[in-house]
Amino acid sequence: MTTIEGNLQHVRARIATACAAAGRNVEDVTLLAVSKTWGADAVRAAWEAGQTAFGENYVQEAVAKIAALRDLPLQWHCIGPLQSNKTRVVAEHFDWVHTVDRLKIAERLSEQRPEALAPLNVCIQVNIDGGPSKSGVAPADALALARAVAQLPRLRLRGLMTIPDITSDLIAARAIHSRAKALFDQLNAAGLGLDTLSMGMSADLEPAIAAGATLVRVGSAIFGTRPPKG
Ligand SMILES: *Cc1c(COP(=O)(O)O)cnc(C)c1O
Repeated sequence: MTTIEGNLQHVRARIATACAAAGRNVEDVTLLAVSKTWGADAVRAAWEAGQTAFGENYVQEAVAKIAALRDLPLQWHCIGPLQSNKTRVVAEHFDWVHTVDRLKIAERLSEQRPEALAPLNVCIQVNIDGGPSKSGVAPADALALARAVAQLPRLRLRGLMTIPDITSDLIAARAIHSRAKALFDQLNAAGLGLDTLSMGMSADLEPAIAAGATLVRVGSAIFGTRPPKG
């Protein structure tokens, strides 16, 4: 068994345990393997161990990997911050974008999504724990942005995404994730039909699942500790 295969089994077991503890079905939580900084070989090893959905932060790096792995039926999620000058490449290569935080970016993605591809799945990134330097729309503005994004013809609005600061305090982590879940429920009560709540990473997937995450983004627990980006 490769290290990646063993790590994946361990992460799947953590997800199953967290779902059982929360009284949730394990099928209701998707595992996104975050492969940023790792090569195509690592992604291929994960695919051989049964993983199909991969997350990438850096667009140039991702496009090279996507091209190198064209022979595999993988699903690619963009989870990195998105500038206007990168939207075309993202619209042409990815299946999902989790980091839509303003209408202008969403409009560009919709205009630039090739007709030959299915609509681009998008999540709105919400700055749920409020740090002023953090990306993501303010929770109070999420409903208006979601309504506008839902109108765009070449996008399919799927849900919300958050990246709260990691805290070792599980109760505090769960409280923050619960705020995201409450916002998600509020948007659905307003008729938006969201099915994806993208939150939780290697260190906090348990409190995220306890609070209602439907997709966890896990990198280091699968691929190992990333080398510092320099
Ligand atoms: C890197 C990254 C992850 C994965 O983080 P790990 O701690 O390695 O699991 C998840 N989400 C986003 C947005 C990331 O940038």
